[in-house]
Amino acid sequence: MDIETALGKIKAVVGDRGLIDDPASAAPFLTEQRGRFTSHAPAVVLPADTNQVAAVLKLCAAHGVGVVPQGGNTGLCGGAVAGAPQILLNLGRMNRVLEVDPLDYTITVEAGCVLQRIQEAAATVDRLFPLSLGAEGSCQIGGNLSTNAGGINVLRYGNARDLTLGLEVVLADGTVWRELNRLRKNNTGYDLRDLFIGAEGTLGIITAAVLKLFPQPTDVQTAMVALDSVDGALRLLDLARNASGDTLSSFELLSNTAMNFATQHAGGCVDPFDQPHPWYVLLVFAGGGSTPYMRGALEQCMESAFAGGHVVDGVIAESHAQAQALWRIREGVVEAQRYEGASIKHDISVPVSRVPEFLERAGRAIARAFEGARPCPFGHLGDGNIHYNVSQPVGADPSAYVERWADMNRIVHDIVAELGGSFSAEHGIGRIKLEDMRRYKTPIGLDLMRRIKLALDPTDILNPGKVLPPADDSPVR
Ligand SMILES: Cc1cc2nc3c(=O)[nH]c(=O)nc-3n(C[C@H](O)[C@H](O)[C@H](O)COP(=O)(O)OP(=O)(O)OC[C@H]3O[C@@H](n4cnc5c(N)ncnc54)[C@H](O)[C@@H]3O)c2cc1C
Repeated sequence: MDIETALGKIKAVVGDRGLIDDPASAAPFLTEQRGRFTSHAPAVVLPADTNQVAAVLKLCAAHGVGVVPQGGNTGLCGGAVAGAPQILLNLGRMNRVLEVDPLDYTITVEAGCVLQRIQEAAATVDRLFPLSLGAEGSCQIGGNLSTNAGGINVLRYGNARDLTLGLEVVLADGTVWRELNRLRKNNTGYDLRDLFIGAEGTLGIITAAVLKLFPQPTDVQTAMVALDSVDGALRLLDLARNASGDTLSSFELLSNTAMNFATQHAGGCVDPFDQPHPWYVLLVFAGGGSTPYMRGALEQCMESAFAGGHVVDGVIAESHAQAQALWRIREGVVEAQRYEGASIKHDISVPVSRVPEFLERAGRAIARAFEGARPCPFGHLGDGNIHYNVSQPVGADPSAYVERWADMNRIVHDIVAELGGSFSAEHGIGRIKLEDMRRYKTPIGLDLMRRIKLALDPTDILNPGKVLPPADDSPVR
């Protein structure tokens, strides 16, 4: 491999604006948000269009240069991090909204479009693009699709995979596969689109997508309730799905610790209740039509939940500002945790009905093995997806605590596996969950993935070392 020659040829394709090779200008692309990983790429390449991506990949294939695609670099799993002989291919310049079609309820975008921009473009024609997550101001749709992102509206609208109709992808040899169709029904053999969604850039570079839009909900009601148990939250979930005609768009769980952290450390977070409770749920009924009925449906749901003893207190937002204040608590949890020292994170899912058992068993196991560690569970209960973050014991050494990251992951992920769950619900595999792939995926499942990888990327130039652990028993680097 001759990286210098390859870079010279790549520069001729993308021009001066399309290649950054001085360390100061490259720096913002090289480090992940949490600072856990740093890229050592000799260059960041920023193609302007699909043809340039194809030409760059042809050159990289010819010179054996690894290519690490990058969107907004918000992924948190080490997926968009490059090693020394690899280039970073950032899609940020390919950020055009190509078409919005209100009648087809579709939007066609380039992969570098920032998620929030897509939501805004949909809103200009009175449509909703429902993918929504904390990093939406900087993550790109190519990254969202490549990690099959979830977020706060999955319960109602599905995850990124469910929101995608068509894709354009550049393959490892520079071939462009283009099926930017808007079809809701298309039974014509293997669904190639689904191969690339969630592949974290290991099978191809997504360059454009056709996404589903929905009517804007006009009748939105937001509430927060306090509960004594997560079992109560599951009863409430059932009531809420029925009362809303299954238009419940969010159902977010917060533990008492999460509420405490948010209200103590994150600006603008005020506990709406006058005394502490073990659990809280933030729920949103989102309907449409010209006759508002969500308020009545929500009140009826809450009355039934009180009568059944499932909830002990509750508030309904009387205005958009009050609804935002409730959301601020949910969103403040992540930033607030930083002020409590180091935390070891898990992004797990189990069948919804087994969340209480998971929380109970994980809590007991952590208490036994990590004395004083403080679980701070919160997340998308409606999807069975809990961010099971565990803050260090008060006064403990943060580095010594984090050194036991893998030990704690093992305890939590073993329980998840026993409950039929997944060790990665939203954020993907990247580099940090390779050992988990080895431990929890079936050997046949892994073998099938390796065969697909070999077929599409025989020389392993696309995001090498991500998603798939080494086939032998050698340790993950
Ligand atoms: C505050 C915060 C909140 C978050 N909340 C959520 C949440 O609720 N739900 C959730 O699912 N995630 C969440 N995330 C994680 C992250 O935002 C998502 O994974 C997001 O989808 C990543 O998009 P990105 O553009 O930043 O991708 P990057 O981080 O740049 O890349 C992610 C992966 O995709 C690959 N990739 C990027 N672009 C392409 C492309 N065009 N073609 C092929 N491969 C590509 C990269 O190589 C890498 O493997 C959150 C992150 C933060 C920081």
